[in-house]
Amino acid sequence: MTSIDYEAKRTRLEEERDELTVRLQDLGITHGGGSHDVGEGEGFADSGAVSAERRELLTLQGSLRENLDDVEAALARITAGTYGICEKCEGPIAPERLEVLPSARLCVACAADA
Ligand SMILES: [Zn+2]
Repeated sequence: MTSIDYEAKRTRLEEERDELTVRLQDLGITHGGGSHDVGEGEGFADSGAVSAERRELLTLQGSLRENLDDVEAALARITAGTYGICEKCEGPIAPERLEVLPSARLCVACAADA
């Protein structure tokens, strides 16, 4: 049987969320209502000027955001009592997998299938 320490997972996920949030802020994404309108597409639209470096940064931001989404979804599932259940086949996700990747949405089989 699976036994998952939800509180331990919650703690880990919250730490991960905080870390991702800080990293995103470091990259210049402002969360919530900021008083100044820096960032968010400013200058990107007229884009000949977007450097490769800048584009790399955006890619990194994108993947950090995706991670953050996964982490927040996992935290929501802990609250909802559906944590550790595969989003695709609704089977249990192996505890060892959750140990390695607490924000996993899919079981090993479904992840391999994706
Ligand atoms: Zn599955």
